[in-house]
Amino acid sequence: MSDFYQAIANSAVGKKVFSSLNLPIPVTLDRHRPDQASFISGTVLVGAAAGSKAIPAILATLKSASGASLATLAGLPAEADIQKAAGGVGVSVDNYTASKEDSAKFKAFVFDATGIQNTAELRAVYDFFHPIMRKLDKCARIVVIGRTPEKCSLEQRIAQRGLEGLVKSFGKEVKKGAIANLVYVDDGAESQLPGTLTFFLSPKSAYVSGQLVRVGASDFGAENFDWNKPLWGKTVMVTGAARGIGAAIAEVLARDGAKVMVLDIPPMADDLKQVAERIGGIAVEADITAADAPEIISNAAKEQGGLDVIVHNAGVTRDKTMAGMPDKFWDMVIDINIGSEERINTRLLADGTLKDGGRIVCVSSISGIAGNMGQTNYATSKAAVIGMVQGMAPELASRNITINAVAPGFIETQMTAAIPFAIREAGRRLNSMNQGGQPVDVAETIAFFASPANQGLSGNVVRVCGQSLIGA
Ligand code: NAD
Repeated sequence: MSDFYQAIANSAVGKKVFSSLNLPIPVTLDRHRPDQASFISGTVLVGAAAGSKAIPAILATLKSASGASLATLAGLPAEADIQKAAGGVGVSVDNYTASKEDSAKFKAFVFDATGIQNTAELRAVYDFFHPIMRKLDKCARIVVIGRTPEKCSLEQRIAQRGLEGLVKSFGKEVKKGAIANLVYVDDGAESQLPGTLTFFLSPKSAYVSGQLVRVGASDFGAENFDWNKPLWGKTVMVTGAARGIGAAIAEVLARDGAKVMVLDIPPMADDLKQVAERIGGIAVEADITAADAPEIISNAAKEQGGLDVIVHNAGVTRDKTMAGMPDKFWDMVIDINIGSEERINTRLLADGTLKDGGRIVCVSSISGIAGNMGQTNYATSKAAVIGMVQGMAPELASRNITINAVAPGFIETQMTAAIPFAIREAGRRLNSMNQGGQPVDVAETIAFFASPANQGLSGNVVRVCGQSLIGA
């Protein structure tokens, strides 16, 4: 759906008028283009607190970005550590001294905060960011890497938890389409960082800001891994894929090299076939709430050799306040949005259709995080999706299967086009990007969780909401 406000605000006349009235001008976000050879282009300023351990992994990740040049702030305690790690990794890092007069612009700041042991040492964050915060380019990235607080000693836990407030505030301070995100990495899991770092530095995370991802250890090695076709040789299924976000997910997963099975209800068969034809995929007509749906899905997937990834995207709203809600609205929303997903997971896991090392990726919603007037049924179902992700993650670890969820905010689809105008405008503007997201933004985050590179990610919920104020 088109955003009239954004189109006018970005016209030549509109820019002048909107600026003079102090109205927000939503920036046209940089999104991934197929011809993009490097996941980030421009200068990346890398910093660290003393004693931090993620610097080699950060530099090794950036080494693979052909369009990036690297620099660090001269004179800070970690400068020597960064230069030493750069020598080890085989990258060159310039020393940069910030001054008010210089016109340098940076595409990203990456700060390794894993060495911070107590709240006094949070000063390292100030020393790095204070001189450079006005030097961010349009659609720039801030990534802070910390230690998983729950696995730290008490003093370190307190300080590391503080980083969440820092990064969420950065998301609100940076303008012009820039984003800020936090990665908590377990001690010893630094080799799992490249997948997450690449995503947060790339245009694929255009509408993801103020988020936190937890990275754990895994034996997965990224040596033989093709970053341009991460899902090459993988078979995936996307439910609710005839239109909207599901169709976008199918397209992005196909772009990433997967053989994609798309599923939707029989009345959507024509649209579903079109999606399948567009991406060279396989259409499966089924209602996921039908008693035999798990069997139909399992049999269809087995014909293709089993599944590496299942994306539970199909979902509906039937909005009414609790007092006015017919029981059929309650039952329908709970059954489509969560009940059927539980039954399908049970079957695919029991009969091995979802292979060991596979991925379950779910679609929650910020309504499930914040609750929403008139959406008790929907919010319950989407919060339950989060419960399923968090509950199943530890159980699936022994089979190297990961389960994660994305929680979209306001995304421009037919579902949101049906929202009354005033509420729709509020949903669009009440976020750090002052605009709604696109289905592709959700799809890119699904692809991030589906990637074999991200074996160390399980039990995460990432909001794709432009840092919506709702539930923040
Ligand atoms: P949509 O209505 O455009 O698409 C949903 C698809 O699911 C449709 O093709 C529909 O036919 C299919 N579906 C519904 N019931 C089904 C069933 N029983 N069996 C099989 N398929 C079924 O919606 P969308 O906006 O693309 O939403 C996709 C997902 O994202 C949903 O889970 C939704 O709750 C979630 N979400 C969307 C937004 C948003 O802003 N659009 C925000 C938060 C979460």
